[in-house]
Amino acid sequence: MTKNTSSLELNKVQKEYLHNKLAKLHQSKFRSSFKLTKKDKNYLNDKGFSTIEEHAYNFIRTRLSPAFLPNDGKQTPFKGHPVFIAQHATATCCRQCLYKWHKIPPNRNLLPKEERFIVALILEWLKENNT
Ligand SMILES: [Zn+2]
Repeated sequence: MTKNTSSLELNKVQKEYLHNKLAKLHQSKFRSSFKLTKKDKNYLNDKGFSTIEEHAYNFIRTRLSPAFLPNDGKQTPFKGHPVFIAQHATATCCRQCLYKWHKIPPNRNLLPKEERFIVALILEWLKENNT
């Protein structure tokens, strides 16, 4: 059932950067406290990763990319979709965390390559934690 086709093409350097980032996140007590529920995992496996990737893109584009976010810091729920959990776990939940962890500055629109990196990070975390 699980579809693993992805439009996220990362080169070797980007992959290495992504895995180093995940390793640092794992060391954070707060970030590593986020876990997928059984319901999240069922949803993931039911939808397949290519659909989840589309969902992740939609969330990032609408909730994170705009330069001006009046609810920044509160836009990502703590349950309801596996991508939300992954966003908290990967510090891609708001522009403040994006700046702190990923050095992506606030108050400007995200670049397409930044959106791609964020989605790739979320998907990788979901794959690692879907066991
Ligand atoms: Zn945040």
